[in-house]
Amino acid sequence: VEEEEASPEIIFRSKLPDIAITNFLPLHRYCFERLPEVADRPCLIDGATGAVRTYAEVDRLTRRLAAALRRAPLGLGRGAVVMNLMLNSAEFVLSFFAASRVGAAVTTANPMSTPHEIANQIAASGATVVFTESMAVDKLPAVQDDGGGLTVVLIDAHRDGCLHFWDDVMASVPDDEDREAEEAAAAAGFDPDDVVALPYSSGTTGLPKGVMLTHRSLSTSVAQQVDGDNPNIGFTADDVILCSLPMFHIYSLNTIMMCGLRVGAAIVVMRRFDLARMMELVERHRITIAPLVPPIVVAVAKSDEAASHDLSSVRMVLSGAAPMGKDIEDAFMAKLPGAVLGQGYGMTEAGPVLSMCLAFAKEPFKVKSGACGTVVRNAELKIVDPDTGKSLARNLPGEICIRGQQIMKGYLNNPDATKNSIDADGWLHTGDVGFVDDDDEIFIVDRLKEIIKYKGLQVAPAEIEALLITHPSIADAAVVGKQVEPEIGEIPVAFVAKAKGSELSEDDVKQFVAKEVIYYKKVREVIFIDKIPKAPSGKILRKELRKQLQQQVA
Ligand code: ATP
Ligand code: MG
Repeated sequence: VEEEEASPEIIFRSKLPDIAITNFLPLHRYCFERLPEVADRPCLIDGATGAVRTYAEVDRLTRRLAAALRRAPLGLGRGAVVMNLMLNSAEFVLSFFAASRVGAAVTTANPMSTPHEIANQIAASGATVVFTESMAVDKLPAVQDDGGGLTVVLIDAHRDGCLHFWDDVMASVPDDEDREAEEAAAAAGFDPDDVVALPYSSGTTGLPKGVMLTHRSLSTSVAQQVDGDNPNIGFTADDVILCSLPMFHIYSLNTIMMCGLRVGAAIVVMRRFDLARMMELVERHRITIAPLVPPIVVAVAKSDEAASHDLSSVRMVLSGAAPMGKDIEDAFMAKLPGAVLGQGYGMTEAGPVLSMCLAFAKEPFKVKSGACGTVVRNAELKIVDPDTGKSLARNLPGEICIRGQQIMKGYLNNPDATKNSIDADGWLHTGDVGFVDDDDEIFIVDRLKEIIKYKGLQVAPAEIEALLITHPSIADAAVVGKQVEPEIGEIPVAFVAKAKGSELSEDDVKQFVAKEVIYYKKVREVIFIDKIPKAPSGKILRKELRKQLQQQVA
């Protein structure tokens, strides 16, 4: 036994060499490090109006906003928390980097959340200022009479009790004031391990948790993606990057916004996703990079609209945040033969990127469709047997664990949850099951908690879902386990959204799956549904489906 304990861990690393990473700067300085070279180039392009803000303008506006945040009535400094409760906008980017400048952290939230969810996140994060827009402002907890509590900054309207982003906050500081002294004072107390972003995990497996990401973790994560002589994602200053995914989610915040700014690219900001508008914008701005999530990839693969647009400018399509099977990748590629499609694998707690497709590298590697990339550089990854805790060799599935400076500092005010997630040796346990193949590519099987146990045999819902959506009469599908008699345990139940006009029957679905899978993975029950409930990041909301199953029993 002692000998076994001494056996070395099996650790996987990137095929790219480690690089020296500048991760001790404040995040805004790191992201705008190339400012002198790109000052006059487009930085943010408004998808709705076409208005362009250059790098110099964005930098100037964030400095000015930071000055406003520092002085009364806002008075923010190191350790303060600001909430960004809005869809994509230039103001989102400005408030994020202004907060970074004053040493504050930004907690991001979906403006479609309920008042209850928003109030919880404000209370838990300790946010004292909320940047928001008209659609969400009525959901905020009432501002107290004594002025205590929240300050609300509205980006798109004037309203009693709220400050207007431009007319009140930005206008409160002179345009040409020299702010060197203030900036220097703020920098004096800076620590790279200060929290700068406080996203909440999606809440797929439980209540969302506040994830502390620091200046060091985020600049490390960005560097792992776009720095070095041969960056893992070969973004350049000539790229035009589509930002249609919500910035309140860490995928868009990190891989689109921070990475895009770091390389000096132009970012086309869509307020929210819309398939037809997206294709128009690709054509109009000659977009080169399209970061997407699987439901959008499926929509493009299944739509005829791609043919009526000139999408030839797109050279790279990234997918992440949720599983995507090989067949959908292949169907998508047939529509955009000129582009490279690949996946990244992320998790809020991991900063978020654990692995990235190496076909995106400046000097690309050959990759397989269906893979989630290779572990990022300057990091270690291992696959652990959930029963024994031992690290596993190639091609053996187990829990994916990651270690490196990019991972979170911990969950906010929750040392127990942090200890459960990051072990004493610094490994973050993801709760995802996957394996590393002979070419260092990672394949995610499913989440540990989602695996269905049919008579003790494991069924990964993601695998059955990937198969189901290849059926021409199926628009979308989700599989969940249904508890039955103890001798069996759980059976796989498929929720199926039919394609328009299809007359698919329960039997058709069962037979379609049965033909392709081993007996225990067969779908035992089919429930037709209009639409599969999903989070903005593209994840299936299984909680809601399970609720439906329970109601069915009752
Ligand atoms: P919570 O932790 O609050 O329950 P969540 O895990 O869904 O919610 P996120 O941090 O947004 O919150 O999502 C991370 C998860 O997304 C990963 O743990 C993994 O299960 C899934 N995921 C991300 N990228 C991929 C991918 N390329 N393929 C498959 N799954 C992915
Ligand atoms: Mg999670």
